[in-house]
Amino acid sequence: MTAVRLTPTVWQVGGADGPAATDGYDANLYLVWDGRCGMLIDAGTGRGARRWLDNIVEVTGDLRAVEAVLITHYHADHAGGAQRAAGALFSVLGSERTVAALLAADEEATSLARARRAGVYPDDYRLVACPSARAVHGPVGVGSLLFDVRPAPGHCDGHIVVELHEPGGVSLFTGDVVFPGGTVSVQPLPDCRLSDYADTVARLAERPVDAIFPGHGPVELDADRCRASLRSAADAFGRLRLPPNFIS
Ligand SMILES: [Zn+2]
Repeated sequence: MTAVRLTPTVWQVGGADGPAATDGYDANLYLVWDGRCGMLIDAGTGRGARRWLDNIVEVTGDLRAVEAVLITHYHADHAGGAQRAAGALFSVLGSERTVAALLAADEEATSLARARRAGVYPDDYRLVACPSARAVHGPVGVGSLLFDVRPAPGHCDGHIVVELHEPGGVSLFTGDVVFPGGTVSVQPLPDCRLSDYADTVARLAERPVDAIFPGHGPVELDADRCRASLRSAADAFGRLRLPPNFIS
Protein backbone atom coordinates (compact mmCIF):
# COMPACT_ATOMS: atom_id res chain seq x y z
CA MET A 1 0.00 0.00 0.00
CA THR A 2 1.05 3.54 -0.61
CA ALA A 3 -0.32 7.06 -0.34
CA VAL A 4 -1.89 8.32 -3.56
CA ARG A 5 -1.70 11.99 -4.49
CA LEU A 6 -5.08 13.17 -5.80
CA THR A 7 -4.50 16.94 -6.04
CA PRO A 8 -1.61 19.25 -5.04
CA THR A 9 -2.86 19.13 -1.43
CA VAL A 10 -5.06 16.03 -1.06
CA TRP A 11 -3.74 12.49 -0.67
CA GLN A 12 -5.61 9.26 -0.16
CA VAL A 13 -3.90 7.43 2.70
CA GLY A 14 -6.41 4.68 3.39
CA GLY A 15 -9.42 2.79 2.11
CA ALA A 16 -10.86 -0.62 1.36
CA ASP A 17 -9.21 -1.14 -2.01
CA GLY A 18 -6.89 0.40 -4.57
CA PRO A 19 -3.25 1.35 -4.09
CA ALA A 20 -3.93 3.16 -0.78
CA ALA A 21 -5.88 0.22 0.69
CA THR A 22 -5.43 -0.24 4.43
CA ASP A 23 -8.21 -2.67 5.43
CA GLY A 24 -11.17 -4.19 3.61
CA TYR A 25 -13.57 -2.59 6.12
CA ASP A 26 -12.07 0.94 6.02
CA ALA A 27 -13.74 3.97 4.49
CA ASN A 28 -11.52 6.30 2.48
CA LEU A 29 -9.01 8.29 4.53
CA TYR A 30 -7.75 11.56 3.09
CA LEU A 31 -4.74 13.57 4.20
CA VAL A 32 -4.80 17.28 3.37
CA TRP A 33 -1.22 18.49 3.45
CA ASP A 34 0.17 21.95 2.71
CA GLY A 35 3.79 20.78 2.80
CA ARG A 36 4.18 21.74 6.44
CA CYS A 37 0.94 20.89 8.30
CA GLY A 38 -1.74 18.30 7.72
CA MET A 39 -5.30 17.34 8.56
CA LEU A 40 -6.66 13.80 8.27
CA ILE A 41 -10.27 13.29 7.19
CA ASP A 42 -11.73 10.14 8.81
CA ALA A 43 -9.91 7.37 10.62
CA GLY A 44 -11.23 4.07 9.21
CA THR A 45 -12.10 1.14 11.47
CA GLY A 46 -8.75 1.14 13.27
CA ARG A 47 -7.96 -2.31 11.86
CA GLY A 48 -5.67 -0.80 9.21
CA ALA A 49 -4.24 1.96 11.42
CA ARG A 50 -0.61 0.82 11.21
CA ARG A 51 -0.85 1.01 7.43
CA TRP A 52 -2.46 4.46 7.23
CA LEU A 53 -0.05 5.85 9.78
CA ASP A 54 2.78 4.55 7.57
CA ASN A 55 1.13 6.13 4.51
CA ILE A 56 0.94 9.47 6.33
CA VAL A 57 4.64 9.33 7.22
CA GLU A 58 5.36 8.56 3.57
CA VAL A 59 3.82 11.97 2.71
CA THR A 60 4.78 14.13 5.70
CA GLY A 61 7.97 12.50 6.93
CA ASP A 62 6.74 12.90 10.50
CA LEU A 63 3.40 12.09 12.18
CA ARG A 64 3.79 15.20 14.35
CA ALA A 65 3.11 17.36 11.28
CA VAL A 66 -0.53 16.19 11.35
CA GLU A 67 -2.48 18.27 13.82
CA ALA A 68 -5.90 16.65 13.81
CA VAL A 69 -8.39 14.26 12.31
CA LEU A 70 -11.90 15.38 11.39
CA ILE A 71 -14.38 12.51 11.73
CA THR A 72 -17.29 12.93 9.31
CA HIS A 73 -19.61 10.63 11.27
CA TYR A 74 -19.68 7.95 13.91
CA HIS A 75 -20.08 4.85 11.76
CA ALA A 76 -17.26 2.46 12.60
CA ASP A 77 -15.69 2.40 9.13
CA HIS A 78 -15.02 6.16 9.52
CA ALA A 79 -14.65 6.63 13.29
CA GLY A 80 -13.38 3.31 14.66
CA GLY A 81 -9.75 4.37 14.24
CA ALA A 82 -10.18 7.60 16.22
CA GLN A 83 -8.29 6.32 19.25
CA ARG A 84 -5.42 5.15 17.03
CA ALA A 85 -5.24 8.71 15.66
CA ALA A 86 -5.29 10.06 19.22
CA GLY A 87 -2.44 7.68 20.03
CA ALA A 88 -0.43 9.39 17.28
CA LEU A 89 -1.21 12.70 19.07
CA PHE A 90 -3.70 13.97 16.50
CA SER A 91 -6.57 16.00 17.95
CA VAL A 92 -9.78 14.07 17.28
CA LEU A 93 -12.56 16.39 16.13
CA GLY A 94 -16.19 15.77 15.20
CA SER A 95 -19.74 16.89 15.81
CA GLU A 96 -21.27 16.77 19.31
CA ARG A 97 -23.07 13.51 18.46
CA THR A 98 -19.95 11.90 17.04
CA VAL A 99 -17.87 12.94 20.03
CA ALA A 100 -20.47 11.66 22.51
CA ALA A 101 -20.50 8.27 20.75
CA LEU A 102 -16.69 8.10 20.71
CA LEU A 103 -16.35 9.03 24.38
CA ALA A 104 -18.71 6.20 25.32
CA ALA A 105 -17.70 3.70 22.58
CA ASP A 106 -21.45 3.59 22.00
CA GLU A 107 -22.18 0.64 19.72
CA GLU A 108 -25.95 1.27 19.78
CA ALA A 109 -25.93 4.96 18.78
CA THR A 110 -23.39 4.22 16.06
CA SER A 111 -25.38 1.15 14.89
CA LEU A 112 -22.21 -0.94 15.13
CA ALA A 113 -23.99 -3.63 17.18
CA ARG A 114 -26.71 -3.87 14.55
CA ALA A 115 -24.20 -3.82 11.66
CA ARG A 116 -22.14 -6.55 13.31
CA ARG A 117 -25.24 -8.73 13.71
CA ALA A 118 -25.92 -8.16 10.00
CA GLY A 119 -22.43 -9.42 9.13
CA VAL A 120 -21.15 -6.03 8.01
CA TYR A 121 -18.20 -6.25 10.45
CA PRO A 122 -16.32 -9.25 11.89
CA ASP A 123 -17.79 -10.79 15.08
CA ASP A 124 -14.79 -9.75 17.15
CA TYR A 125 -14.69 -6.13 15.98
CA ARG A 126 -15.41 -3.57 18.72
CA LEU A 127 -15.57 0.22 18.87
CA VAL A 128 -12.71 1.60 20.98
CA ALA A 129 -13.45 4.66 23.15
CA CYS A 130 -11.59 7.87 22.36
CA PRO A 131 -11.50 9.93 25.59
CA SER A 132 -9.76 12.91 23.98
CA ALA A 133 -12.33 13.46 21.20
CA ARG A 134 -13.78 16.96 21.20
CA ALA A 135 -16.56 18.75 19.41
CA VAL A 136 -15.81 21.25 16.69
CA HIS A 137 -17.96 24.25 15.84
CA GLY A 138 -17.28 26.26 12.73
CA PRO A 139 -14.05 26.54 10.74
CA VAL A 140 -10.82 24.77 11.64
CA GLY A 141 -7.45 26.13 10.53
CA VAL A 142 -4.36 23.95 10.15
CA GLY A 143 -1.25 25.67 8.78
CA SER A 144 -2.32 27.48 5.62
CA LEU A 145 -5.42 25.28 5.27
CA LEU A 146 -8.91 26.35 6.29
CA PHE A 147 -11.64 23.74 6.74
CA ASP A 148 -15.28 24.78 6.83
CA VAL A 149 -17.21 22.20 8.86
CA ARG A 150 -20.91 21.98 7.97
CA PRO A 151 -23.71 19.97 9.58
CA ALA A 152 -25.06 17.37 7.15
CA PRO A 153 -27.51 15.04 8.93
CA GLY A 154 -29.57 12.40 7.12
CA HIS A 155 -27.28 9.43 6.49
CA CYS A 156 -26.94 9.43 10.28
CA ASP A 157 -27.23 11.89 13.16
CA GLY A 158 -24.29 14.21 13.69
CA HIS A 159 -22.86 13.80 10.19
CA ILE A 160 -20.68 16.69 9.01
CA VAL A 161 -19.18 17.49 5.64
CA VAL A 162 -15.96 19.45 5.24
CA GLU A 163 -15.22 22.14 2.66
CA LEU A 164 -11.63 23.05 1.84
CA HIS A 165 -11.29 26.42 0.11
CA GLU A 166 -8.16 26.86 -2.01
CA PRO A 167 -7.27 29.22 -4.88
CA GLY A 168 -7.91 26.32 -7.29
CA GLY A 169 -11.45 25.76 -6.05
CA VAL A 170 -13.60 24.20 -3.37
CA SER A 171 -13.14 20.59 -2.33
CA LEU A 172 -15.97 18.83 -0.52
CA PHE A 173 -15.32 15.84 1.74
CA THR A 174 -18.73 14.21 1.81
CA GLY A 175 -18.33 11.17 4.07
CA ASP A 176 -21.37 9.01 3.31
CA VAL A 177 -23.78 11.83 2.38
CA VAL A 178 -23.37 11.91 -1.39
CA PHE A 179 -21.09 10.24 -3.93
CA PRO A 180 -19.95 11.08 -7.47
CA GLY A 181 -22.77 10.27 -9.89
CA GLY A 182 -25.36 11.55 -7.43
CA THR A 183 -25.79 8.42 -5.34
CA VAL A 184 -26.56 8.50 -1.61
CA SER A 185 -26.34 6.03 1.27
CA VAL A 186 -29.75 5.22 2.74
CA GLN A 187 -29.80 2.34 5.20
CA PRO A 188 -32.59 0.93 7.42
CA LEU A 189 -31.02 2.33 10.61
CA PRO A 190 -32.80 4.28 13.37
CA ASP A 191 -31.01 7.57 12.68
CA CYS A 192 -31.12 7.53 8.87
CA ARG A 193 -33.62 10.38 8.43
CA LEU A 194 -34.83 10.97 4.91
CA SER A 195 -36.26 14.47 5.26
CA ASP A 196 -33.04 15.64 6.94
CA TYR A 197 -31.12 13.90 4.17
CA ALA A 198 -33.12 15.74 1.50
CA ASP A 199 -32.51 19.11 3.20
CA THR A 200 -28.77 18.40 3.54
CA VAL A 201 -28.37 17.46 -0.13
CA ALA A 202 -30.43 20.48 -1.24
CA ARG A 203 -28.03 22.74 0.71
CA LEU A 204 -24.96 21.03 -0.77
CA ALA A 205 -26.32 21.44 -4.30
CA GLU A 206 -26.17 25.22 -3.75
CA ARG A 207 -22.46 25.11 -2.93
CA PRO A 208 -19.74 25.96 -5.50
CA VAL A 209 -18.11 22.52 -5.34
CA ASP A 210 -15.21 21.74 -7.68
CA ALA A 211 -14.09 18.37 -6.31
CA ILE A 212 -15.84 15.62 -4.33
CA PHE A 213 -13.90 13.33 -1.99
CA PRO A 214 -16.40 10.69 -0.85
CA GLY A 215 -16.13 8.23 2.00
CA HIS A 216 -16.13 5.28 -0.39
CA GLY A 217 -15.30 4.76 -4.04
CA PRO A 218 -13.50 7.05 -6.47
CA VAL A 219 -13.18 10.83 -6.20
CA GLU A 220 -14.58 13.31 -8.73
CA LEU A 221 -12.24 16.13 -9.77
CA ASP A 222 -14.31 17.61 -12.61
CA ALA A 223 -16.27 20.63 -11.38
CA ASP A 224 -19.14 20.24 -13.85
CA ARG A 225 -19.61 16.59 -12.94
CA CYS A 226 -19.44 17.42 -9.21
CA ARG A 227 -22.20 19.99 -9.50
CA ALA A 228 -24.28 17.68 -11.72
CA SER A 229 -23.89 14.91 -9.12
CA LEU A 230 -25.13 17.14 -6.30
CA ARG A 231 -27.95 18.54 -8.45
CA SER A 232 -29.21 15.13 -9.54
CA ALA A 233 -29.37 13.86 -5.95
CA ALA A 234 -31.08 17.08 -4.83
CA ASP A 235 -33.54 16.93 -7.74
CA ALA A 236 -34.54 13.36 -6.88
CA PHE A 237 -35.14 14.27 -3.23
CA GLY A 238 -36.97 17.40 -4.42
CA ARG A 239 -39.44 15.18 -6.33
CA LEU A 240 -39.87 13.13 -3.12
CA ARG A 241 -37.98 10.23 -4.67
CA LEU A 242 -34.88 8.49 -3.44
CA PRO A 243 -31.69 9.09 -5.42
CA PRO A 244 -29.95 5.84 -6.40
CA ASN A 245 -28.24 4.15 -3.48
CA PHE A 246 -24.45 3.84 -3.45
CA ILE A 247 -24.79 0.51 -1.66
CA SER A 248 -27.06 -1.58 -3.83
ZN1 LIG B 1 -21.83 5.83 7.22
